Amino acid sequence: MTAVAELMDYAEVVERFDPVLGLEVHVELSTNTKMFCGCENVFGGEPNTHTCPTCLGLPGSLPVVNGKAVESAIRIGLALNCEIAEWCRFARKNYFYPDMPKNFQTSQYDEPIAFNGYLDVTLDDGEIVRVEIERAHMEEDTGKSLHVGGATGRIHGAEHSLLDYNRAGVPLIEIVTKTIEGTGERAPEVARAYVSALRDLLKALDVSDVRMDQGSLRCDANVSLMAKGATEFGTRTETKNVNSLRSVERAVRYEMTRQAAILAGGGSIKQETRHFQEADGSTASGRTKETAEDYRYFPEPDLVPIAPSREWVEELRGTLPEMPAVRRKRIQQEWQLSDAELRDLLNLGAVDLIAATVDAGATPAEARAWWVATLAQEANTREVELDALPITPAQVAEIIALVNSGELTNKLAKQVATGVLDGEGSPREVVEKRGFKVVNDDSALLAAIDEALAAQPDIAGKIRDGKVAAAGAIVGSVMKATKGQADAKRVRELIIERVGS
Ligand code: ADP
Ligand code: MG
Ligand code: ZN
Repeated sequence: MTAVAELMDYAEVVERFDPVLGLEVHVELSTNTKMFCGCENVFGGEPNTHTCPTCLGLPGSLPVVNGKAVESAIRIGLALNCEIAEWCRFARKNYFYPDMPKNFQTSQYDEPIAFNGYLDVTLDDGEIVRVEIERAHMEEDTGKSLHVGGATGRIHGAEHSLLDYNRAGVPLIEIVTKTIEGTGERAPEVARAYVSALRDLLKALDVSDVRMDQGSLRCDANVSLMAKGATEFGTRTETKNVNSLRSVERAVRYEMTRQAAILAGGGSIKQETRHFQEADGSTASGRTKETAEDYRYFPEPDLVPIAPSREWVEELRGTLPEMPAVRRKRIQQEWQLSDAELRDLLNLGAVDLIAATVDAGATPAEARAWWVATLAQEANTREVELDALPITPAQVAEIIALVNSGELTNKLAKQVATGVLDGEGSPREVVEKRGFKVVNDDSALLAAIDEALAAQPDIAGKIRDGKVAAAGAIVGSVMKATKGQADAKRVRELIIERVGS
């Protein structure tokens, strides 16, 4: 049993100590095939169905580098303002663990493909922090182990373990920051904002699906403290596999309060890996950290070095998309959003959806109204993220077009959206299936108007006396009579014409 750690109050921590951070992000590339073999690179699947002699490390098998992965690595390096190596190699990182069938990981060690870059990160209040990048290197993922029979899913107490090598050999890029200093009390926020900005960048590059919940983007957070005025870094801990943005922030904050309590009590920090515990936001001790010597790194003899030509690097630079921060600025201007409005859209995860809806023909204002009102509500009641709603931006644009052409009223349009979300088909199909058709036929509307006026004889007089608002009652009756399928604006016009003449 581990004792409950003592924590120092956060305000006191930042008064007495300066935090130092270092973030390591692993990103799984969404290439078609694995890093060194032709196996399909997909998430999940029946265990051990995407394997071959190479990714199982069988004797006699030989690796071949995935060219597309190298291309992605270079594009990531360029987007992070890195230098790209003229020549680099893979190395073997030796360790024994059952989820790694070769007993070494093919990785890059002292010769990374990209190095010395930076990423500018915008904090919530608009302040920009430059995070320097030490290196981005290529490696391969491990398999997965599943410990069965215990209460915790950990190996302790388990009856047996199962191994799935589908993930073994999936291309990974590890992006390592230089130490991040001087962020003070904002260290947890900076850590979250960095991972968030990096995620946006990788998404824009279209090199990974960056799903933290599925492990395709994973962050290890190194944290140490130095007493105010000290000149040497303190000992760091490395909290592993923190799998949401919120957890990154919580993990850093927790480590700061835990380490501060130990240091203030005269203790010292053990250099170790720790595990973030989602349930209570704490970190728990993992293994004592290996040092580089323990891994017995040596150059991989089965792979040729990689020497990307400068022409190729420049060609790839030409494929870089508009950077997310630049794009956000442009969108803010084009859609005429205040800082707060833009932030709301970002928090809602609506920017890309709205942009795609605009690309499909809607105006920014129309698209925004749909996503932040109707659809955000639907996402809320269905308890999913906005982008997980089963409706595409093109379909939303289609509904908007149906409203604009007068074929649907706003009210019916919402029902059509619900129909699409409920799997009834495309907007057109829902309109047909549900028999929605705006009654545009003036003679049908006039018949309903006459009937309503006859039933409420005092209203015509009121309207003639200039109390135009009284028409509302007739509009209501007509809408009822047409089951909501009339265009309220047209009905109002017709009433005024009818009564006024
Ligand atoms: P390891 O292989 O031990 O994980 P890496 O070089 O891959 O080492 O990553 C270490 C990370 O920790 C880097 O981001 C580095 O900047 C950071 N780091 C190094 N020393 C400290 C420290 N004293 N406090 C906080 N972060 C540190
Ligand atoms: Mg590392
Ligand atoms: Zn394979």
